[in-house]
Amino acid sequence: MPTTTALKTSPADAIAFLEVLSVSGVVVDRLNNVVASTEIANEMGLVEYGKLAIDELRELAVRARAVGETLTEEISFARNLRTAKVELSVKATALDDAHIILVVEDKTEAKRLDETRRDFVENISHELKTPISSISLLSEALQVAIDNPEQVKKFAKNLQRESKRLGSLVKEIIQLSRIQGGDLASSVEPVDLSLVIYEAVDLNQFQADAKNIKVTVAITEGLVIIGDSELLTMAMKNLIENAIVYSNEDTQVGIGVKDVDDFAEITVTDNGLGIPLDQQERIFERFYRVDPSRSRATGGTGLGLSIVKHAALNHGGDVNVFSRVGLGSTFTLRLPLFTESTNSSGED
Ligand code: ADP
Repeated sequence: MPTTTALKTSPADAIAFLEVLSVSGVVVDRLNNVVASTEIANEMGLVEYGKLAIDELRELAVRARAVGETLTEEISFARNLRTAKVELSVKATALDDAHIILVVEDKTEAKRLDETRRDFVENISHELKTPISSISLLSEALQVAIDNPEQVKKFAKNLQRESKRLGSLVKEIIQLSRIQGGDLASSVEPVDLSLVIYEAVDLNQFQADAKNIKVTVAITEGLVIIGDSELLTMAMKNLIENAIVYSNEDTQVGIGVKDVDDFAEITVTDNGLGIPLDQQERIFERFYRVDPSRSRATGGTGLGLSIVKHAALNHGGDVNVFSRVGLGSTFTLRLPLFTESTNSSGED
């Protein structure tokens, strides 16, 4: 028998102590039967029919007993093929000669956040590199072409386009990181949706006119939601801008706003290119573009729809797309309305 560095605490005392700390813990005996467990451990599904429900936890308990030392391990498993992986950090140590205590920390969310952050930074660096290297190349070309006014004009125009692209990329990155942190502006207030929509249409009018696209608006007036009007305007601007950018000249874009079961249902419909079915979920991801070359040519950053998605989520709503290639797309943004009943606490 190895000499164990046992804690010399009874299973009940150890579990009571972990319970106070709101920590997930399970104590097993020599046969790996669970003799005590905290509430959180049970909620996490670590115990099943009086046994440890996860093979890796059982094996760790056996090893900790064999070596007589505290073992720490990261365990990653999926309950079945359909569920997402769970990431656990587990410490196993002897309480006495008979009992091993496993202290389990769920790291799934922290790891997911870490990965999202890492991906985001990698994507940003990659996306920023393109306009920056274009600007560098174009400025070199400009120096060489200094005596050729035609070329100077062309390179200067391209320089302007790339720096504009860089500017909007940086602006959208800042906006996205702000709303991703769930950080709605402190100025959350009742917002009249019709003002948001008209402002967003206004911001796109120039682009619409340039392609002779008629933008029609059908609004149920007086709909109010509690939110951040700047963010909502940006989300609507992005949806309308996409409808225009991904449509041919001389077409129409329709915007509708109505009250459906205490939700404002805002639709933006175009008769444009449409989006292939298998890509419709992915377009809401950051930097995702159906056709990167076309999107780049139109100055797209691939961030527009992820801003829309996060703006919707931050307001307790959602966004969906219905689209057919060659026929067009309808984006539907649903936001909870500020109704009389929401407001009734303020009334007599
Ligand atoms: P981008 O800046 O590239 O437009 P978005 O996040 O706004 O980025 O959109 C992601 C992708 O979804 C676009 O690159 C485009 O391929 C597709 N998309 C978005 N809106 C529409 C639309 N109304 N019609 C067709 N395709 C669209």
